[in-house]
Parts: sequence; C-alpha cells; structure tokens
Amino acid sequence: MAAADCLSLTSAGLYCGAGDFYIDPLRPVPRALITHGHSDHARPGHSKVLATKETLAIMAIRCGPDFARETQAITYGETIRLGEVDVSFHPAGHVLGSAQILLCHRGQRIVVSGDYKRQDDPTCVPFEPVPCHCFITEATFGLPVFRHPDPRGEIAKLMASLQLFPERIHLVGAYALGKAQRLIALLRASGFERPIYIHGALKALTDYYASTGIKLGELRPLAGQRREKLAGEIILCPPMALEQLALKGDTEPRKIFASGWMRVRARARQRGIELPLIVSDHADWDDLCRTVVETGCGELLVTHGEADALVYWAETRGLAAKPLHLMGYGEEDLENPVEAPE
Ligand SMILES: [Zn+2]
Ligand SMILES: [Zn+2]
Repeated sequence: MAAADCLSLTSAGLYCGAGDFYIDPLRPVPRALITHGHSDHARPGHSKVLATKETLAIMAIRCGPDFARETQAITYGETIRLGEVDVSFHPAGHVLGSAQILLCHRGQRIVVSGDYKRQDDPTCVPFEPVPCHCFITEATFGLPVFRHPDPRGEIAKLMASLQLFPERIHLVGAYALGKAQRLIALLRASGFERPIYIHGALKALTDYYASTGIKLGELRPLAGQRREKLAGEIILCPPMALEQLALKGDTEPRKIFASGWMRVRARARQRGIELPLIVSDHADWDDLCRTVVETGCGELLVTHGEADALVYWAETRGLAAKPLHLMGYGEEDLENPVEAPE
C-alpha cells in the first residue's frame, strides 16, 4: 500500500505521521482534521481542529462553543501545509460543510472521503471527484442491492399521502443534521409551501442552515401547538422522538421515516413505519463504484460499512484494495439526536 504510507491506523483512528494529525479521530487528540459534523466523525475535546467553517459551526452547535481549544477554518480548494503534507478540503455533498480531505505527500495524492453522496442536495455543495493515487472510502451501502431511488419520487409519495390522509398528522423521522434540512428543501422544491412543523431538537441546526442562505420556507416550532390543529400537516422530528410523538393525541399520526435503510423492508416494519422514504445521504452501490473509477485511483481502502463487496469489485478491476475495519463510524443510525425538549 505505497500511496497510503503516510497514514497509519491507531486506536484513535486514521493518523498521518508526516503531518502529525488525525482525521475524524474517535477520542481527543492534539490535532484533528474533521470531514463533517456528524457525531461519529466530529467529536469534542481535541486541542486543535481544522475543518470548514460550516463544520466548525455545526460542532459548536452540537458540542458547545468550547468543543476544541483552538479551531481553524479552511475553505474548499485552499491548501494548508501541515508538517510535510499539503492538505486541502473538497466538497463531499454529504451534509452542509462536508469535505473530502486530500493529502499530498512526496508526490502521492491520498483522498480521505469521509461520508459522501452523488445525488442532488440543495442544502450542500455537490461532491467533486478528486484525482488521487489512493482513495479512502466508506461503504455504508456497499452492496449491489443498495440502489437509492430519485429522492423526488420519495417526496412525491409523501405528497400523495397528504392527499390520501388529510385528517392525519404526517410525522416524519429524519436525522437532525443534514437529512431533516434536505427533506425540507426537497419539499419546497416539489412545490410544498405550507408551514412545516419541527421538533425542538432540529431547531438549532435548521436555523443555522437557513442562516447560510438555504431557503427552507416557513418553519414552526412543534412545541406549544395543539395536536388537533395539526391534522394533515407535516411534522419533522429526530428518529428517537418518532415513537414517543406517535403515541400522543387522539388520532394516530402516520409514521414516516426517511433513511437509506428504508430500502430494507424489515427495518421499516420493525419500527412500525407506515411510509418508508428511501432518502440517503450516503452513496449507493453504483455511486460508490462510479466514484472510485472517477478518482482514477490505483489503491482503494475501505474504512467501514459493507467493505468486502467493494474490495472484491475493486480487485476485479485491477486495483489494490483492502478493508480497514475502522470501528466507531457509521453510527448515525444509532446516535441519539434528541438534544432539546420538544
Ligand atoms: Zn455522516
Ligand atoms: Zn459517518
């Protein structure tokens, strides 16, 4: 694995000795480069953090203003030298501020992609393939069965449901960072202009998205609203609040959940989801493969997820590939996003 020689696996995660920094470390380190604000990548307690200004803002919202001793913002395309390594950040299309990190060291180009997707998302800068010798990718949906549909079709299902069940609250579970705001933007793009009600745990991040100029239309806090007045309205809440909110009130709300995992019918059934929406902020199988090809890399390292299928696929194309089995990532499904009362 020649190109990735300047990277090593440690108990804190990926470490670059030549630059003396970690990428998305799992525990506090002297210097961390952070790809994006999801809690499995952006943890508090580092001495120095280098990230996009959006990721820094998101970390401050989620972890408090003292999440690191020192922070430095980097813009997409800007190069900063750390030790013997030139570092630059490039759009990952995953959530607002998300970045792939390019390391240039002794003529070798290594891209650590973090999480990424290739589908349109009006709430963040689109993914840009970065030519490299070694591409380090996740593989959350790294199996050929995972093919995400067009999100506009999924939003159309939600619109059709509102027509069909005008007397029922439409309670939509969505991750607090990225998914919730993307759903709102997709609803607006589909022509839905009514106010959207949001759970308190989504407020700070959604306000931040809006403050950067992303058009989200009229949003109303769910707190203090009378349940009977919300018939036929859309309420967005974090996944963990779905069960609890579904029990309140006289008429049962329609339980809806937006996630790439909704492709797996058993998961939807388990959670009692009536209307699963397959909307994912991760690349599906086709987009993972396409991206590897577009980077032109000769080496592929797979951090987490369904690594084996992607490694096998890469080897059949003549790439040197191996899984890294990084632990502690891909837990967006498990995180508890209830950060504020309703
Ligand atoms: Zn993520
Ligand atoms: Zn992740």
